[in-house]
Amino acid sequence: MEVENEASCSPGSASGGSREYKVVMLGAGGVGKSVMPFLSHLNVNVVLCFSEDAYKTQVRIDNEPAYLDILDTAGQAEFTAMREQYMRGGEGFIICYSVTDRQSFQEAAKFKELIFQVRHTYEIPLVLVGNKIDLEQFRQVSTEEGLNLAQEYNCGFFETSAALRFCIDDAFHGLVREIRKKESMPSL
Ligand code: GDP
Ligand code: MG
Repeated sequence: MEVENEASCSPGSASGGSREYKVVMLGAGGVGKSVMPFLSHLNVNVVLCFSEDAYKTQVRIDNEPAYLDILDTAGQAEFTAMREQYMRGGEGFIICYSVTDRQSFQEAAKFKELIFQVRHTYEIPLVLVGNKIDLEQFRQVSTEEGLNLAQEYNCGFFETSAALRFCIDDAFHGLVREIRKKESMPSL
């Protein structure tokens, strides 16, 4: 049985019958999860949430409207009741690390398994994001390593810079496309 979405602050469909996409940001502290939605062209609004921050915005992706309901999370990759709740509720996940922080890359590599523990499937839409590429001189994680992890995850990969507003929208758009692709496939 499908479990109803609980992680979002305001469950249910968006007004006007347009599709709402519940997106969860995952990643180590300091990688840029909280600034990313603002340093994009997504025009997000902050909504009050019980514990973690949530942002909402409406965009058009491939000429179709999409309401994004973005949950910004904090904390380490350990298993907590809270994490279980938002992993249950997310329709798609943006797994972030910083290219200047190898530890954050190692943490990013753990999320698929953590999601699997909750959802019991690997067929969950994901994108992998290596942020802070403006800090090239401090890079600790190569593009190739990011690509290899994305291949292992079977997901899209974006190297971004929130500071330069570079490629952030593409990561969100990429995730919505993954969710749409999954929905258009017949379920087994
Ligand atoms: P979070 O803990 O993952 O939510 O990280 P934050 O969004 O709070 O960002 C942590 C720090 O990294 C802040 O000082 C941001 O301004 C900085 N930061 C985020 N993204 C970038 C980026 O692309 N480039 C640079 N140079 N700094 C960034
Ligand atoms: Mg944060």
